[in-house]
Amino acid sequence: MKKGDRVEFIKRLSADIPAPVTELKYRNSYTLLIAVVLSAQATDVSVNKATKKLFRKYYTPVKMLDLGEEALKQYIRTIGLYNTKAKNIIALSKMLIELHAGQVPDERQALEALPGVGRKTAGVVLNEAFGKPTIAVDTHIYRVSNRTGLAKGKTPNEVEKKLHKVLPNEYIQNAHHWLILFGRYVCTARKPKCGNCVVFDLCSFKGKN
Ligand code: SF4
Repeated sequence: MKKGDRVEFIKRLSADIPAPVTELKYRNSYTLLIAVVLSAQATDVSVNKATKKLFRKYYTPVKMLDLGEEALKQYIRTIGLYNTKAKNIIALSKMLIELHAGQVPDERQALEALPGVGRKTAGVVLNEAFGKPTIAVDTHIYRVSNRTGLAKGKTPNEVEKKLHKVLPNEYIQNAHHWLILFGRYVCTARKPKCGNCVVFDLCSFKGKN
């Protein structure tokens, strides 16, 4: 894809979804972090269902430790890998209290040092909670970027680097949301909705129809 077309691509997505936000429900940076940890290999809808009750009472690291690992599992047992996720949530809550005065840090290195928090989770939290210009490449962004020719790469990290390189700075922070929502609802893995696609003419996917 040519440079000008890449800019046009992201401009059109921005016009289509002017104020994009995450579909995960949360009430502060801590509950956002927990929701993102829970969303690994799970849908936002399934996470929101489970956290609706959980976050009503347990929305700080101290409250989460009061709840405890076994009771936490009862809230999140409908989400895949809930045993490991519960363990990580309790461990990361302890670390937040011990190392960060109970606050979620706004630095990538500190976030990635927390149990169960990888590059993608840290990127989402930095973007959504702290307004940083990060792009967390999930399955949707990876597919859309490669398929359309917007930013090709063999790994999520390669795609992330390429997106930072090819997109104008002012679009980076929201590009994360635009690309996820576009991949979730239009450029879906199976049967992309090419007939309703605002970037049809710019897309280089051979299978578009
Ligand atoms: S034309 Fe089809 S494949 Fe290309 S970006 Fe649009 S929905 Fe995706």
